[in-house]
Amino acid sequence: MFKLVVIIFLSGLLTLYANPLIGGCSKCNTEPQGLKIISRKEWGARVPKAPPQILPVNPPTFVVIHHSYTDECTTQALCEAKVKSFQNYHMDHNGWDDIGYNFLVGDDGNIYEGRGWGIRGAHSPKYNAKSLGICFIGDFTSKVPSTQAINAVKQLLNYGEMIGNITSDYTLLGHRQTKATDCPGDELYKLIKTWSHWKDI
Ligand SMILES: [Zn+2]
Repeated sequence: MFKLVVIIFLSGLLTLYANPLIGGCSKCNTEPQGLKIISRKEWGARVPKAPPQILPVNPPTFVVIHHSYTDECTTQALCEAKVKSFQNYHMDHNGWDDIGYNFLVGDDGNIYEGRGWGIRGAHSPKYNAKSLGICFIGDFTSKVPSTQAINAVKQLLNYGEMIGNITSDYTLLGHRQTKATDCPGDELYKLIKTWSHWKDI
């Protein structure tokens, strides 16, 4: 019986990750030049506690921007260590199934795959079912992320739009617009307010 459950769980994961619209990084080799997405496998992600849930609203109509409110990271090795520590915290301390965000970005300019495309995240109550959550690694209260990080997220969003993994008329929000929090930090929030998809809600 246990074996059967394991097989069903694994085949469920395989189905999810084989679908280009949901989860995984199956389109990584068609990414636009300069956009580097470090897959879960590459950064050494833990297996989620439960099979990933497809977003009820897919493609999502919202993108929610966060910051991690930690130190920044400037190399792939340092950023991977940060991403792993967030996954551990979210799974072991918060009791979530997996890292909360869909994607993360480091000041090294790499995108790190969290739950990935088309998967329900745990980052913005009330918006988790219809949004993609992206976290800038660092504390952006009094400074903005690196130019490389900013450009990487812009590229990721354009790419997501191009392959239909987010709607073309998606609304961009800062986490603070969805609940009482300082996230994504004053300076990062000021910056994203200048992006074309940002809306005052
Ligand atoms: Zn946040």
